[in-house]
Amino acid sequence: MTGSHQPGSGPVQINQAQLQARVNELGTQLRRDYQGQEPHLICVLNGAFMFHADLVRAMGIALTVDFLQTSSYGDAKQSSGEVKLVKDLSFPLSGRHVVLVEDIVDTGITMHYLLGYLSGRGPASLKVAALLSKPSRRKIEVPVDYLGFTIPDAFVYGYGLDRGQLDRNLPFITSQE
Ligand code: 5GP
Repeated sequence: MTGSHQPGSGPVQINQAQLQARVNELGTQLRRDYQGQEPHLICVLNGAFMFHADLVRAMGIALTVDFLQTSSYGDAKQSSGEVKLVKDLSFPLSGRHVVLVEDIVDTGITMHYLLGYLSGRGPASLKVAALLSKPSRRKIEVPVDYLGFTIPDAFVYGYGLDRGQLDRNLPFITSQE
């Protein structure tokens, strides 16, 4: 599939200004909640890289970052239901105030796995920030403490999320029919 810089015609359209406004709101909320705690913001690669970068900038307080990667859908649009860690963390979590930063919570399977994995590493606290959530698709209930947008069941891409590995660099979020 060829990447296009035009929005798709699907039901979910979130433009650059809307993204920026919401991410700034979440950043402000996180700043108030974590001021003085030097939180540790973990980015789930690849999809969350843009959200994570904008969120930590919007927070504007002393914090640290790390990155992990789970096995993705590949180029398929349905989850296999199996999660594997492809890239592990570089820093310990013991005693840290951890915020896991995800692009989208769909079935909840990935988030459920990650919360189990991270909580076993002894953080002082563990919260979730997700840019998008599709609650109608949930198979496992997971907590989302900081949520950007609730969206209907549509395949979305842009702003870090891919369509066949392309279109991650779109500055907006769009969807297919
Ligand atoms: P879950 O385990 O909750 O079903 O899926 C989470 C992961 O699936 C997300 O981190 C993301 O990588 C991928 N995913 C789920 N829905 C979409 C979507 O609409 N578009 C894209 N590009 N990825 C999605």
